[in-house]
Amino acid sequence: RFRSGLEKTRRTLNTDIRDLFKDEGRLVDDEFLGELFAKLIRTDMGAGPAEELRDEVAKQYRGRKVQLNDVIESITEQTRTMLRQDEAPLNLGDPPSVILVVGVNGSGKTTSIGKVAHFLTTSGKKVVLGAGDTFRAAAVQQLTIWSERIGCDIVTGKQGADPASVAFQTVDKALQSGADVAIIDTAGRLQTQSNLMQELEKIRRVVEKKLGREPDEVLLVLDATAGQNALSQAKGFSEAAGCTGIVLAKLDGSARGGVILPIRRQFSLPVKFVGLGEGIEDIAKFDADSFAKALFA
Ligand code: GDP
Repeated sequence: RFRSGLEKTRRTLNTDIRDLFKDEGRLVDDEFLGELFAKLIRTDMGAGPAEELRDEVAKQYRGRKVQLNDVIESITEQTRTMLRQDEAPLNLGDPPSVILVVGVNGSGKTTSIGKVAHFLTTSGKKVVLGAGDTFRAAAVQQLTIWSERIGCDIVTGKQGADPASVAFQTVDKALQSGADVAIIDTAGRLQTQSNLMQELEKIRRVVEKKLGREPDEVLLVLDATAGQNALSQAKGFSEAAGCTGIVLAKLDGSARGGVILPIRRQFSLPVKFVGLGEGIEDIAKFDADSFAKALFA
């Protein structure tokens, strides 16, 4: 799964690193390490992680001649260590579990909801969707199409309806229909707007009132192609929204899958899922070992 999703990154990166090995092997000296660093940083992993990977290669091999595979092995192993996180399955409390999904417009929020809903449905869960992004008619339509494909219930409101009332009705529907999980979409206007924060706060309050506990998960959808600036912005957003986990969408569409390294570092949140395409099945639970391997090897 990760292998095909990360093909673009791997192709760029591997080719790049291979470029360092025009001759039989290379002496690991400052020149080589500098070139390696330049290649690594092009995957969007940021200076810190690239330095760490380079330093590990230096520690192991400085002054010796290495082959391509030695370097790939070293950086894969180090990446694995950097990506490792505690097991982070979806936190599903007593049914119905409630999952709020937040993120900036265009990040892949609606698609990710569809994929997660399908993922849960195929593992035997009964899912209800809540179209809480009442601001965008297109978002409601899109989510409705997903619900039809998945064959699950959906609660929608009129355009401009109070998102909190949609959230309330969604939880209500889940309770009434004996659903296992309610997944609620939220508006994704720019995270700097404080009214959006208030809106989220209200949704949380309403869910808590109806459900008798906080939402079980607040998932932040991040766009892997968005670059590091977008990530810093999303960080403030995730803190204010009380996020509990990340869905990293569009990893396949990027030659820069290394972005997962700064995400693991900047966000003290586990990556729960990664999006690897536009199709309903194109989602995978994150796993550091397979991911590191798929990234480089
Ligand atoms: P939203 O505005 O955040 O709800 O974003 P959408 O779910 O509408 O996604 C925006 C665009 O990104 C759409 O064209 C999706 O098909 C596409 N998209 C979403 N997730 C992925 C993914 O994992 N891989 C790829 N390649 N495209 C994706």
